[in-house]
Amino acid sequence: MSELWELSVEDVARRVRSREVPAAEVTEAALARTAQVEPLISAYLEIFTEEARQRAGGIDRRIAAGEDPGPLAGVPVALKDNLNVAGHRLTCASRILEGYVAPYTATAVERLLAAGAVILGRANMDEFAMGSSCENSAFQTTRNPWDLSKVPGGSSGGPAAAVAGGSVPLGFGSDTGGSVRQPAALSGIVGLKPTYGRVSRYGLVAFASSTDQIGPLARNVRDAALGLQVIAGPDPRDATCSDRPVEDYLARIEEGISGLKVGVIRDIDVAGLSLASARGWREGLGFLERAGAEIVEVSVPSLDAAVAMYYVIATSEASANLARFDGVRYGRRASGKGRADNLADLYVASRSEGFGPEVKRRIMLGTFALSSGYYEAYYGRARGVLERMRRELDAAFEQADLLVTPTSPTSAFGIGEKADDPLAMYLSDIFTTPASLTGLPAFAVPTGLDDDGLPQSLQIMGRMFDEATVFRACRAVEREAAWRVAPTFRGVEAG
Ligand code: GLN
Repeated sequence: MSELWELSVEDVARRVRSREVPAAEVTEAALARTAQVEPLISAYLEIFTEEARQRAGGIDRRIAAGEDPGPLAGVPVALKDNLNVAGHRLTCASRILEGYVAPYTATAVERLLAAGAVILGRANMDEFAMGSSCENSAFQTTRNPWDLSKVPGGSSGGPAAAVAGGSVPLGFGSDTGGSVRQPAALSGIVGLKPTYGRVSRYGLVAFASSTDQIGPLARNVRDAALGLQVIAGPDPRDATCSDRPVEDYLARIEEGISGLKVGVIRDIDVAGLSLASARGWREGLGFLERAGAEIVEVSVPSLDAAVAMYYVIATSEASANLARFDGVRYGRRASGKGRADNLADLYVASRSEGFGPEVKRRIMLGTFALSSGYYEAYYGRARGVLERMRRELDAAFEQADLLVTPTSPTSAFGIGEKADDPLAMYLSDIFTTPASLTGLPAFAVPTGLDDDGLPQSLQIMGRMFDEATVFRACRAVEREAAWRVAPTFRGVEAG
């Protein structure tokens, strides 16, 4: 029999709802497992120990009174630290938000609570979700549960490591250019970027508003589907959130993909993949074929411009969104004699002290790209190329029901390996940025391990709002790959 912390989301909720296991016991098991692995992986910025216990007790009392707490009854979840939870601190892993306490709760989090979830804590991230390794956190470096010398991926590295390491069966991150999918890939779990507008962004700290989406991280596809099911749907508090009703993602998830057309993007430069990832990629395609999909070739020539477009558009939006952190309205204010004699100095001093180097680089890049002399040359141009990519993807979806790529061009890389080379770091996003820029749903599903024992992942993209088909394909790959999350914590002897 599995230990309680190993149970899937579905199993936890089923057992808690049927009174087989009290939510209090599930929470204790999650806290105990977390106490065991957290010293190795540093996934959390804060663990809500007492609150989680109280909440689990409350769920058990409701069940005893004959109520149904919902589809996530007693399920422990980890939240990226850019999701507001009323009464709790929120930092975005940045010093500039030191001391900030959330005055309200994000819609997605409200829905998790209404479904009976137990929040275990705030998980680490790259500062303001800018990064692909989780090394840009101002507070700590999260480690990959498969190999402690490697990054877990970013920017949602904290929740990804928490899920992969067995602390919680379900985590939530935000994905602006790949930040749920890429850490899912490097940590060997499932990670989803829903269609833009499928999930409310209300209460998610904005990075690039035209691409930000909240998405679940889980150890299997069905659990990820359940996680999305709970948070998806219309929200009057976010004007970009779609009014479309949400499909039942589990209803047809086991139906397989026999006869579906899966498009392989011809323009993927397999030579640009690490050897391990090239092999993982071929293996992933093999799983799709074995599941009965028909593989067709499609062409998306502007794929190689995706990273360039993304880093113009995302930094431009970030430069505007992050202007609100001025040392007056939120969090940290510069103090000290002579630092701030007037308002402008106060802004400069607070922002200089509060933001880390990557965030400053993005703000400067974005401000430059939007400046009057360069707006057309950079931002305008990026928007133009984006329209071309959108047309190419539309055409590809006329030939295929789904598109596939590797999720990441490499397996998990070493801590510090790319830290001094922002461009190398940005190139981690080559496969994830197209769906971000165009709004398409894109999911990362594990396919196996490379020769070094590091996870490999396939990215499956669908048509707008066709999450249900993407889930079916991910589930089919998962069945073929016979994947089980069993991290090795390599390096624990040394560390
Ligand atoms: N790695 C990308 C970046 O640094 C994506 C980040 C994200 O999706 N939040 O911008």
